[in-house]
Amino acid sequence: KYQLSDRVNAIQPSPTLAVSQKAAELLLAGHDVIGLGVGEPDFDTPDFVKEAAKAAIDAGQTKYTAVDGIIELKQAVINKFKRDNNLDYSLPEILISSGGKHSIFNLLSAWLNPGDEVVIPAPYWVSYPDMVKLVGGEPVIIEAGIDQRYKITAAQLDAAITPKTRLLFLNSPSNPTGTAYSKAELSELADVLRKHPQVLIASDDMYEHILWTEESFYNLAMVAPDLHDRIMLLSGVSKAYAMTGWRIGYAAGPKPLIAAMKKIQSQSTSNAASISQHAALAALEGDQSCIRTMVNAFKERHDYLVDALNQIPGMKCIPGDGTFYTFANIEGLMAAKDCSTDIALCELMLNNAKVALVPGTAFGAPGHCRFSFATDLATLKEAVRRITDFAS
Ligand code: PLP
Repeated sequence: KYQLSDRVNAIQPSPTLAVSQKAAELLLAGHDVIGLGVGEPDFDTPDFVKEAAKAAIDAGQTKYTAVDGIIELKQAVINKFKRDNNLDYSLPEILISSGGKHSIFNLLSAWLNPGDEVVIPAPYWVSYPDMVKLVGGEPVIIEAGIDQRYKITAAQLDAAITPKTRLLFLNSPSNPTGTAYSKAELSELADVLRKHPQVLIASDDMYEHILWTEESFYNLAMVAPDLHDRIMLLSGVSKAYAMTGWRIGYAAGPKPLIAAMKKIQSQSTSNAASISQHAALAALEGDQSCIRTMVNAFKERHDYLVDALNQIPGMKCIPGDGTFYTFANIEGLMAAKDCSTDIALCELMLNNAKVALVPGTAFGAPGHCRFSFATDLATLKEAVRRITDFAS
């Protein structure tokens, strides 16, 4: 009866949300489920950010704003890039959108034609391939396994690029693996990209601040200034400031592309919520020590969890560089439990151990599952106890 569009039929609903939903159903039915599927910090949004939002409401900042965001916030984003990354941007090179996901969607809509190829390193953030398909593009997946710390090599990138390639996604530190590209690794990728001028690079820096490596954060724009006009930096306040619900993301890149993305936004969502923009302004310009507090907690949990999971027979994971995820290889456990897929094993773990995880297949990496440690240490310990019981 309802003849849906080919566009929507080409995609799947976000699988991370599907797991949370299943876990929520079990919870509702009275089961004591531990949800380690979520992709958001368990911390509350900092008080000074909330206060800024309340003040914005009281001051009547409750109307439409400029489509591309209030000037103060765009300037704060420019300041952020100068302060954290020593990168220079001007106002027409910045677009404020309704979350990082929206920034990415604007970019894909503005840049891709049907049939254009987009190179996506796997394990990837679940939404990239489906968002590409939604605008008619063709995802081209490069697989990077545990032995290469889930990061692609320059040779792999070179082999994946064709004359039809128009975009490359880079996400470092990575959701779901937690690993980050070093400055040297990015330089090697830049060498390949110099040979292929038709390729734009989408650098998803959403987890920039949730990093504990000795080397500080680098993205491609910092490492290869000569590629500046081919790079779109994508980020937002969701993860660093525990602001997932506020829906503010931003993009920084070439003026004509930002203008095109703004045009799309002007005919779809218009400006991001005015109150959230004022909150994001406070977050970016305020005391940044709130980030350190969260990162310290994430690091402590990471150290515990990676060590604990490696003691469970049939599970293997490598220490990450940042984020609040660890990606475990579960092929041994799948074999022991007679599960032919990671999805089947995750379902079994949800039903038997009452722990909700996201299967690796969702990230283009079968044989794995993602643990989110955006939850307190006591809960993580209980989850490990349950999975250990389940495994033995
Ligand atoms: N990029 C990555 C790698 C993410 O993990 C996420 C959120 O899960 C996003 C972008 C989107 O963030 P937002 O909630 O701001 O849309």
